[in-house]
Amino acid sequence: MTDITLTIDGQTVTASEGATVLDAARAAGIAIPTVCHHEKLEPFGGCRLCVVEAEAGGRTSLAASCIFPVQQGLNVRTRTPQIEQVRKVLTEQLLAHAPESEVLLKLAEDYHANKDRFPREPSFCILCGLCVRYCAEVKQLNAVSFVDRGPTREISFDPEIANRECWECKECFPLCPTSALQAAYVLMKSLTAFSPSAHCAAATPAKQATA
Ligand code: SF4
Repeated sequence: MTDITLTIDGQTVTASEGATVLDAARAAGIAIPTVCHHEKLEPFGGCRLCVVEAEAGGRTSLAASCIFPVQQGLNVRTRTPQIEQVRKVLTEQLLAHAPESEVLLKLAEDYHANKDRFPREPSFCILCGLCVRYCAEVKQLNAVSFVDRGPTREISFDPEIANRECWECKECFPLCPTSALQAAYVLMKSLTAFSPSAHCAAATPAKQATA
């Protein structure tokens, strides 16, 4: 595989063809925040917190680094005032949905975000898709999926699959970036509808999914 040389924050970085800017930056020790990214999963480009400034052929644009492939001679900046502002606003929007999320509160600290800027709509799910994609791509079970679109979009467990598979798994729970463990809550609701005795099993601590 051909090696690609690019510059990230002034540092010359080499990455394999097909790697993303996020991969290349992290391999070089340059931190870029994400909440929807997981090494075991296909890039999703959902949270956009990994936004960077990418300059190639005299053009500069903002790009989600988790889905942006490395290019020869690309010049990437990961922390400009504009990027910091984008991450700040995105964090503020996510916090409206999950105000107690430790992951988001830490980002709020890093990007000076105001956690009360937007009216709270505590759905406790920020639609990062980690639980959905982990179940589909790693477990290949599709016990949990997205339903609806736009403001009513949410995750939902298939009660039959969940009743059969989730008892012994629960590997998606620790992936959830909201402190409310929304995946656990939705699973519990769905299993309760399926079987009234589901509460206890769904509420037991999850096995840690290793990256
Ligand atoms: S429940 Fe958690 S892991 Fe699943 S999509 Fe919502 S925020 Fe992401």
